[in-house]
Amino acid sequence: MKRRHFVAALAGLFAAHRAAQAAPADAVKIEKVVLKPEEWKKRLTPEQYAVLREEGTERAGSSPLDREKRKGTFACAGCDLPLFTSDMKFDSGTGWPSFFTFIPGRLGTRTDFKLIYPRTEYHCIRCDGHQGHVFDDGPPPTGKRYCNNGLALKFIPA
Ligand SMILES: [Zn+2]
Repeated sequence: MKRRHFVAALAGLFAAHRAAQAAPADAVKIEKVVLKPEEWKKRLTPEQYAVLREEGTERAGSSPLDREKRKGTFACAGCDLPLFTSDMKFDSGTGWPSFFTFIPGRLGTRTDFKLIYPRTEYHCIRCDGHQGHVFDDGPPPTGKRYCNNGLALKFIPA
């Protein structure tokens, strides 16, 4: 092997090693859950399906999870992946369960234009189930408000 090629190969190896180190451990471990619509319909109630799989929004104030104050974990109703803990929850007064942050690596985001102005939609990283929208009017320390559909979550008391 010519020296130039050897150096290039070595550089490539180091780059790959760095990329592997930079990826959060969670992102590597989480395997996607991919189901057909019929399979989701068997697993979810029609109301849950409308939110998780069709990006619907439940009526404000309709979810008992909005008033849930116990210690515990809020997991995706589609695939059980824990997304938030009770320590991340706050009362936003909007009528939807609200969080100022999420468990690292568990949510993905997309911009949607369903209303006239663009909004940031977020979803479970494992099953792509729609959870809610994130806004910039949340409390410290993040200033974020993850406005979540209660139907898309299940609460597991600690
Ligand atoms: Zn999920």
